[in-house]
Amino acid sequence: MIYNLSAVAFLVLFCAIPAMAEEQFESDAIQTSAGELQITFIGHGTLMFQYGSKVIHVDPWSRLADYSKLPKADLVFLTHHHGDHLDPVALEQVSKDNTIIVLTEICAEIFDGGEIMKNDDAQTFMGIDVLAVPAYNLVHKRESGEFFHPHGEGNGYVLTFGDTRVYIAGDTENTPEMKTLEDIDYAFLPMNLPYTMTPEMVAEAVNAFKPRVLYPYHYGETDLAELQELLKDNPDTEVRIRKME
Ligand code: ZN
Ligand code: ZN
Repeated sequence: MIYNLSAVAFLVLFCAIPAMAEEQFESDAIQTSAGELQITFIGHGTLMFQYGSKVIHVDPWSRLADYSKLPKADLVFLTHHHGDHLDPVALEQVSKDNTIIVLTEICAEIFDGGEIMKNDDAQTFMGIDVLAVPAYNLVHKRESGEFFHPHGEGNGYVLTFGDTRVYIAGDTENTPEMKTLEDIDYAFLPMNLPYTMTPEMVAEAVNAFKPRVLYPYHYGETDLAELQELLKDNPDTEVRIRKME
């Protein structure tokens, strides 16, 4: 298991909060060349997009929401198989007959019936171009010496909605593949420690690939003010803080 004691304490604490104030999630509406894209910030590494008539869930996790009450998915993206990203209960609840679940090879060993994308694969689902970007650690390891997220196991995804490109990084550090992405309008970058990036790593990546808007997500207890300070002189990227700890 990847969780150290403080993460377990965090989860226990989280479970103790009774049924999370009924689905009061923040959302942003974004205009694309092909209509409005609504982003709902479920929390942690979990998002929902609504685009035209399509509903897209990313890493649905039933600790954060009652998925029996959220719109059913046309598309689901799973970044990797860790328990806060691959949750069979939530997947069951958001699925309808024709839901497509896009996932990694390891996720497919745990949850049957998805569409596997390997690192660097490109595919189009329901008119949305999708690129799978490798998501992995360069520095942060378990005590055993193994990376929390070994190379090749996890995906980030670049989703193209009309002329708008959204990058959901998954659990990763500031990899060369991330830093050479181009034309990203909205980027979701993780910052929970020790599993993913420090604020310095996020800032370094942002200064390299210059997304138009950065949403820090999956940030746990990492100091957002530190990230804002590091990026305050960056004229290219707007940092938007939403409740995504
Ligand atoms: Zn993970
Ligand atoms: Zn995670």
